Amino acid sequence: MLIVGLTGNIGSGKSSIARLFKEMGAKVLDTDKVARDVVAPGTPGLQQIVQHFGAGILNADGSLDRPKMAQIVFNDPEALKFLNSIVHPAIRAELLKAIADYKNNPDAPLMIIEAPLLIETQLYKLMDQVWLVTVNSKTQIQRVIERDAATAEQVSSRLAAQMPQEDKIPYAHRIIDNSGTPESTLQQVRQIWSDAIDRPQAQAK
Ligand code: ADP
Repeated sequence: MLIVGLTGNIGSGKSSIARLFKEMGAKVLDTDKVARDVVAPGTPGLQQIVQHFGAGILNADGSLDRPKMAQIVFNDPEALKFLNSIVHPAIRAELLKAIADYKNNPDAPLMIIEAPLLIETQLYKLMDQVWLVTVNSKTQIQRVIERDAATAEQVSSRLAAQMPQEDKIPYAHRIIDNSGTPESTLQQVRQIWSDAIDRPQAQAK
């Protein structure tokens, strides 16, 4: 049983690598999905957002208008602070619950929690280990341009808003360099799986 926070900056390859671990038998939790769930219709999170920003922040179907919300917080640091004060504790509570469930019923040898802001939000403190996905910046920009149909300028400004990859390295127990081919990444993932999962079991026998 091992609880791992998998992180890396935008386009580093977190989702792709989480998928590989899932195929190998890990339990995977995506904090982006949790972040959406905690402000879904009917949640206390969404209720607080509507109280603060008004019903104009909702789509016709009662769900949060995410592009509108993003635009507001992009231009207003206080609004961002408020939103984070609602969303971050709710995510943390959901993760604590998922971790407790996994500990009670460890139905996979490894639990991977994919979290872009693992270090920035201190969530890494809930995990046994931090695994960091790195990528060289030229490759990263190219991959995000292709994935999101974005311009180089858009991608660069999103990157500039993130904690630099180098600053995350000291927190990492393992580093997966995803600058190369999918095959090279798969090899690293297999190696990490065998070090973290197979080998301790072999030693215990
Ligand atoms: P993240 O979840 O960190 O934002 P993704 O896993 O979505 O990153 O990867 C970013 C993009 O790069 C995706 O389109 C993905 O398919 C592609 N990609 C990821 N790893 C590789 C790789 N090793 N070689 C080529 N393309 C890759």
